[in-house]
Amino acid sequence: MNFNFSAIAPVHADKGIWFLFKGNALLVSKTNSSIPVLNKEQISNSDLQFINYLGTCDSVPCFTASLNSEAISEDYHTQDLLTLYRSQDSLDADIFKIAFKAYEILNWDKTHQYCGQCGSVMNRSSIDFSKICPDCGLQNYPRISPAVITAVIKENKILLARHPRSEIFSVLAGYVEAGETLEDAVRREVMEEVNIEVKNIRYFASEPWVFSHALMVAYTAEYQSGEIKADGEEIEEAAWFSAEEIPQRIPRKVSISRKLIDWFINRNSEISLACSP
Ligand SMILES: [Zn+2]
Repeated sequence: MNFNFSAIAPVHADKGIWFLFKGNALLVSKTNSSIPVLNKEQISNSDLQFINYLGTCDSVPCFTASLNSEAISEDYHTQDLLTLYRSQDSLDADIFKIAFKAYEILNWDKTHQYCGQCGSVMNRSSIDFSKICPDCGLQNYPRISPAVITAVIKENKILLARHPRSEIFSVLAGYVEAGETLEDAVRREVMEEVNIEVKNIRYFASEPWVFSHALMVAYTAEYQSGEIKADGEEIEEAAWFSAEEIPQRIPRKVSISRKLIDWFINRNSEISLACSP
């Protein structure tokens, strides 16, 4: 599948792939959860708001919009986007990428209708995904909040922690504060949450997490000093775990936190295999 993200809509589009949202729920087919391909007539008969062009998918135009009713067709129903993503047995990864973009663009369009400086109605840019105030010139873009997520390693163990309202053990994460580098945020979050100083911070991977408008930037880091002391607010319990001791309740496969934990398990399994006689 070849997706080209673009803000410049085609002049003529007889049909397109429509990512239609009702709140946080995406319209998909009842049979195989596919995204509807709709023609002009179906669209003009639908109760849509905040229509946005997204680009093309294998040369077919893609759009997103807010759906005010479910009257498109009896063949489709809406499903919560996060639930769909977590079930992972319906849409393929490329379709989710477009659905995430659609969700983010649509939410931005809805929540940035007026200028934050003078209150005028914002104009949509015709060349990119931005809006410009016709009166004061203020420009805004879709909201993306960077957050860091870190696997802290001490010899052959990983630091996992649990939130007070969760039974799941995971790596540490937090939003980047204004004026901070990503590495500063890693050091601060780990120190604040568990009182540990880290070194050798290395980039691992990144992943948009549109449900909280976050861009998750994952790192690995090595333990430098300190004794684990959970802050009691964001973290209730934290400890070092070897690959064999990883708790049963860890994040689901689709999350970047799980990719970090799996990376640690694989790396340590390879080391123990290499060390075994
Ligand atoms: Zn303004």
